[in-house]
Amino acid sequence: TTVAAALSALVSLSLASCGTSTGAGGGAKGATVGLAMPTKVSQRWIDDGNNMVDELKQFGFGATLKYADNKPETQVAQVEEMIDEGVDALVIAAVDGHSLTGVLKKAAGAHIPVIAYDRLILGTPHVDYYTSFDNEMVGALQANYLAEEIGLINGTEQGPFTVELFAGSADDNNTRYFWKGAMDVLRPHIQNKELVVRSGQTALDDVTTLRWDGDAAERRMDDILDEHYSTGRVDAVLSPYDGMSLGIIKALKAHGYGGDGKPLPLITGQDAEVPSVRSIIAGEQTQTVYKDTRQLALVTSYMVNAVIRDKKPVTNDGTTYDNGEKVVPAYLLDPVSVDRSNYREELVDSGYIDQSDLD
Ligand code: BGC
Repeated sequence: TTVAAALSALVSLSLASCGTSTGAGGGAKGATVGLAMPTKVSQRWIDDGNNMVDELKQFGFGATLKYADNKPETQVAQVEEMIDEGVDALVIAAVDGHSLTGVLKKAAGAHIPVIAYDRLILGTPHVDYYTSFDNEMVGALQANYLAEEIGLINGTEQGPFTVELFAGSADDNNTRYFWKGAMDVLRPHIQNKELVVRSGQTALDDVTTLRWDGDAAERRMDDILDEHYSTGRVDAVLSPYDGMSLGIIKALKAHGYGGDGKPLPLITGQDAEVPSVRSIIAGEQTQTVYKDTRQLALVTSYMVNAVIRDKKPVTNDGTTYDNGEKVVPAYLLDPVSVDRSNYREELVDSGYIDQSDLD
C-alpha cells in the first residue's frame, strides 16, 4: 500500500540521516521523552501512549507518560513538570489546542523540541513538528459513506432524506478539519434538498461536542428526536467519533429505533474502537474510520529520534497545517473507512484488533 511504501521510505531515510541501521547510538542514548496524552476514557489514547513508549524503547529512549484526564490545566501542569524533570523532547496530544502557549514558551527556553501528536497545538511558534492522519479525509470518508449508502452518490436516489450532524470538541483543532471534509461532501446535497437537517443545526458552532463526550452526544440526539422527529424518522447521522456514535445509538434506541419497522439510521464513527466494531458487527453503528495508531507511533518515534539528534525528520506535508503562528511541518497518514464488509480484512487481519475481542 502507499502507507507501507511511505513508511519504508521514511524508515530508510531516517536511518540514513542518523547514519546507523540499528536505532539509537551516540549521545542520544538514554534520552527521555515526555509523552502528554489527553485521556484514558478512550482506548485509542491508551494504545497511543503504550505504542509510543514501546517505539521509543527501540531507539534506546526512556519515556514519561502522563494522561491529563481531559483537563487542559492538568495537562499544562504535567508538561511543566516534564520540562522541570529535564526531558529531551516532548510529544503532546493536546486536550485544548490553545492552552499550551505559556508552557511551550518555557520548553523553548529550555531548548526542548516539541512534536504535536495527532492534534495540532495552536497559537504558538514553539511547535516543531506535527504527526497525524489526513484529518480532512477522515470527514470526507464519513460523509461519502453516508451519501453513497443512501444512494445520492453513485446511485439513483434523490431524497429527501433526513440527516443530523455532530462534530467533535471545539477546542480540538482536528474538529474543524473533520467538519470541513464532511461538509464539503454533504453541503451540496443539503442545499439541493436531497438531504434535510430537520433540527436546522448545520453550523459548526451549533453541533460541537465538548471533549468528545458520548453522554453529551446522547443528550443532544435525545433532544433532537423529541423536538423534530415526533413523526417520520432520521435516516443518517454524521458522528465524528466512536464514543459519540454509541451515545447517539442509545438515544435512538430509547426512541424506538432498532425495533420493528424503525431501523437505526446510518451512523458513522472514528477510531475503530472495539465497542464500536462490535456494534458494527451487530448491525447498529454502520461505519468507522480506522486510523492505524501503531503507524502514528512509529512515524512519531522516528521524528523524535531525528529531533533529539538535531536532524531534520521526514515530513510529507509542509503547507496545510497552520497553527496561527507557524506553518508546522507535518507527516500525515491515510485513514481508512471500515464497515461490516471490510472490518475483518482491515482490523483483524492487520492485527489491529484481536478476533477474540470481537467474539
Ligand atoms: C482524534 C480522533 C479522536 C478524537 C476523540 C481527535 O483529535 O484525531 O481520532 O476520535 O480526538 O478522542
